[in-house]
Amino acid sequence: MLLKLLRLTFIFMLFAFAHAGYAQNPVIIDQEVRQLMDRAIEEMESGKYQKANTTFREMLDTKKVLPSNMSYLFSKTLYMIEQYHNSKNFLDKYLDLTGKAGDYYEEALALKRALNENIEEIKSCNFCNIFGYRLEHCDVCDGHGSLKAACYYCRGIGKTNCPTCLGKGVIITKNQFDVEEYESCHTCQTVGNVTCKVCSGKKVIDSQCPQCLGSGRSKTKEICDHLPHEHKETKLDN
Ligand SMILES: [Zn+2]
Ligand SMILES: [Zn+2]
Ligand SMILES: [Zn+2]
Ligand SMILES: [Zn+2]
Repeated sequence: MLLKLLRLTFIFMLFAFAHAGYAQNPVIIDQEVRQLMDRAIEEMESGKYQKANTTFREMLDTKKVLPSNMSYLFSKTLYMIEQYHNSKNFLDKYLDLTGKAGDYYEEALALKRALNENIEEIKSCNFCNIFGYRLEHCDVCDGHGSLKAACYYCRGIGKTNCPTCLGKGVIITKNQFDVEEYESCHTCQTVGNVTCKVCSGKKVIDSQCPQCLGSGRSKTKEICDHLPHEHKETKLDN
């Protein structure tokens, strides 16, 4: 089996991630990394993909040079736990690093096809976000995507000081004899204030819902099955 073979061969692997934070080739794979890789492979072989996910993340955290096969195996693990976008990133990285020479070239192509199908499904589904997480009616804005908030410009008063007379209602000028002359302000009809131009006097404005960022639906931790859920939709009627 390929995974077993790999365990013997990756010690000699000189590939390294060419990305920032990773050392350049050729570098011998560190002992700690080798042990983590062994563990991750065992976890994958026994179907414990969540555990393998944790182990691969530990490998990344070591900030040490990683064998290029790790990219494929991590991608496969992420695929199994339905983190398709993450999976695609590592798969692309693997194909970039190894090209056709990779130990898992054929498997990587098959995984790429499967991933594309899943990503297309997510794109065409109305019930999840681009990462495939189920979306739910947003309770904060009750699905409107926006909240009514006091107008920031007039502070919820609906009126602002007249820009012409600065709130006095009259315009004071001095004539050539240095005597003050008073003239009614026509901008505000001597009232001293004008209708707020931001809220048009409504005192409130619509502000984007901070929970759902305007979409009216918020993300859950549930991975979407791309099917309508009756119980979720009836929640609106409560
Ligand atoms: Zn005025
Ligand atoms: Zn206003
Ligand atoms: Zn909302
Ligand atoms: Zn969906």
